[in-house]
Amino acid sequence: MDNPLNYSNLAAPRIERVRHELRRRSLVVSGIERITPGMLRITLSGEDLADFVSLGADDHIKIFVPGADGTVEHRDYTPRRYDNDARILALDFALHEAGPVTAWAMNAAVGDHLEIGGPRGSAVVSGDFRRWLLIGDETALPAIGRRIEETPDGHEITSIAAVTGPDERQAFRTEAALTTHWAYRPLDRASDPSALLSVVRSLKLEPGTFVWIAAEAAVTRAIRTHFVEERGLPLPWLKASGYWVKGKADSTEKFE
Ligand SMILES: Cc1cc2nc3c(=O)[nH]c(=O)nc-3n(C[C@H](O)[C@H](O)[C@H](O)COP(=O)(O)OP(=O)(O)OC[C@H]3O[C@@H](n4cnc5c(N)ncnc54)[C@H](O)[C@@H]3O)c2cc1C
Repeated sequence: MDNPLNYSNLAAPRIERVRHELRRRSLVVSGIERITPGMLRITLSGEDLADFVSLGADDHIKIFVPGADGTVEHRDYTPRRYDNDARILALDFALHEAGPVTAWAMNAAVGDHLEIGGPRGSAVVSGDFRRWLLIGDETALPAIGRRIEETPDGHEITSIAAVTGPDERQAFRTEAALTTHWAYRPLDRASDPSALLSVVRSLKLEPGTFVWIAAEAAVTRAIRTHFVEERGLPLPWLKASGYWVKGKADSTEKFE
């Protein structure tokens, strides 16, 4: 590992927060595809998507599903792809054993209705940098895939994703120069950072790389700490989120 990183002569990336009008949309399931054994892509359709807007690859919407005793449960999901003209929105669900939204997705059928809200805003990352390092688990793959596919020629992306095995690898099309790494661990070890960390530690970090991390919160914390404390990565070059918390329903964690 090359320490310390010299970022001093580089202009820091900017993260611009763009607010959107907060709207609920009523949509209908129009397609269901198992893109890997553990990842379900559900395509939603409806006139309400005519003015859907999501400017950031890691935006999120709220999904509303019926919970126990007539309550409504909501969880965050990434708009994986959308097309206003075709009025479609694709979401990728990382399947796991528990949870009302995962249960809804696993039982969904074409014609089912789904309410969504948002995105409330987009975080648009910009700057002169040309290198991305994207790190995450299954829940981050929709945002990682979208970022990879939306990044233009002239940029370099390295992704490191933790999944349960080779069957869970996804292929992405992009104009950017892409290197993908896959770290394997069973789902019951999804809060153990060691599989991702061992790949992360083996990589050279070029100055001018924007590092994006999203995974189970303990994993995100460990990888973020590695970059900040061991590699001296300046905070403006890092965005890290805990997309879920092991053992806690409806939980996320923010790292500033
Ligand atoms: C900004 C953002 C974007 C996200 N985008 C996506 C996305 O596009 N696709 C996606 O699949 N997820 C995404 N997530 C994660 C998703 O919101 C959570 O996994 C959510 O908890 C799932 O809801 P649930 O109803 O299935 O489970 P919950 O009721 O929330 O949780 C029930 C139990 O399952 C555990 N659990 C939750 N998620 C997982 C998991 N992935 N693997 C194993 N155990 C789990 C919890 O710890 C809890 O013990 C995103 C999260 C955030 C914050």
